Amino acid sequence: MRMYVAGEWSDGAQQEELRSPYSGEVIDTVPVATVDDVDRAIASAVQGAAQQRRTTGHEREAILRRAGDIADTRVDELAATISRETGKAITEARAEASRAGDLLRLSGFEGSQLYGDSLPLDASAGAGLQRLGFTLRQPCGVVVAITPFNYPLLLVLHKIAPALAAGNAVVLKPARQTPLTALKLVEILLEAGLAPEAISCLTGPGGELGAALVRDPRVRKISFTGSTATGESITRLAGVKRLSLELGASCPVAILPDADIELAAQAVALGGYANAGQACISVQRVLADRAIVGDFLDALVPKVEAIRAGDPASADIGTLISEREARRVESALKTGTQNGARLLTGGERDGAVVSPAVVADVDPDSPLSQDELFGPAVAVTTVADVDAAVRLANATHYGLGAGIFTGNVANAVRFAREVDAGNVHINWTPLWRADLMPYGGLKGSGIGKEGPRSAVEEMTEVKTVVLHGAA
Ligand code: NAD
Repeated sequence: MRMYVAGEWSDGAQQEELRSPYSGEVIDTVPVATVDDVDRAIASAVQGAAQQRRTTGHEREAILRRAGDIADTRVDELAATISRETGKAITEARAEASRAGDLLRLSGFEGSQLYGDSLPLDASAGAGLQRLGFTLRQPCGVVVAITPFNYPLLLVLHKIAPALAAGNAVVLKPARQTPLTALKLVEILLEAGLAPEAISCLTGPGGELGAALVRDPRVRKISFTGSTATGESITRLAGVKRLSLELGASCPVAILPDADIELAAQAVALGGYANAGQACISVQRVLADRAIVGDFLDALVPKVEAIRAGDPASADIGTLISEREARRVESALKTGTQNGARLLTGGERDGAVVSPAVVADVDPDSPLSQDELFGPAVAVTTVADVDAAVRLANATHYGLGAGIFTGNVANAVRFAREVDAGNVHINWTPLWRADLMPYGGLKGSGIGKEGPRSAVEEMTEVKTVVLHGAA
């Protein structure tokens, strides 16, 4: 496919091949954008932002609604593209693609809801009754959106749809491994009537293009989803800009003695392995009370063994994004067992496929707990009581999602209050998202919230206006 820069589809000066993570076959070629392309994309976005801010909320909503309707008719095509470029199981890709239409329409609606406040200026000494004050929300201007490989449709849409709905122009840089779905979304938006200058999509290397994009003073807002390391490098380069950062995680789930163990096992067998564990809200750590850890593992292991990993066309879960990533996960599991953890099932690698693994007796200070694994494995640690569960839930650098299984409301309330995670689930795992939810991490997991209402807020700025009726 071609990339879309400054209102034109472009082959770029050079192309690179994209290969299926499953079969290794070439699936397409895409341009390798250069810093010159970054410059052209931003220059065009400056014009696009000037046009966009003069559109009405009604016009923008109509475009996003049309884009949502077009996306609904292309679910199969989008799903096939997602599966081809990520190696994700087609059933999972279809679930992802089928959310696009609603997400576009909801973003369009939220972009039409740019309410402000009226200000009681007369309450300020000496201001009198001659003044009226209110706030206006206006778009940020040029938004740079940088996205990861793991949900190449939803995580792109969670940025570009609210940004456009709020009246911004966007320069999108999708993950190098997954540009095709993003380019198809650009096609859909243009077909729906979006102004050509309102969006560019640059394909190619993240380091070089990302740095040029985030440094540029014409950019007002950066919305990034990806690893904590890349997020940190962006904060160092960005300067005075608005930042939303959705970063890495090592999400915990606590299981207390009064939990429904069957439900907990079922939920962990989904939440630890969906998308081959390559979800930022994947269950990585299970903190199981010593009274029930044996029963829990007995319930979990057969469920995990029943997950079929392999060919994306037919399996429950597909590949990791590359063989290199699969090797990294395989080796993290090996190191974990060398350090005393017990591998109960899985962990074997075949190309880019890793079989779903359960590891028990995991040291909470070890890399298997502390570092993001991003693979199909769950690390189970035995805890003495709810105090230990809360303490260990908080004992990593991250704070994206957390869950607790308990029949005791007091424990649930305590967990919700005391665990520092952006999303806390009671009697389910963090791998659950309604697109309208505020969604984003605390601590090393990031800054800011997505979900169309929150994202529209973060993609707009507040201006205070005062009308002086008399001096
Ligand atoms: P990554 O950080 O390697 O890449 C993300 C994006 O940043 C890509 O588009 C990449 O090309 C670009 N990039 C690379 N170097 C850059 C630089 N120096 N400056 C600017 N941009 C640069 O992440 P990934 O491997 O694609 O995705 C996996 C990571 O994303 C995991 O850590 C995962 O937890 C995280 N993630 C977080 C959320 C969330 O909501 N918190 C959601 C999904 C994924």
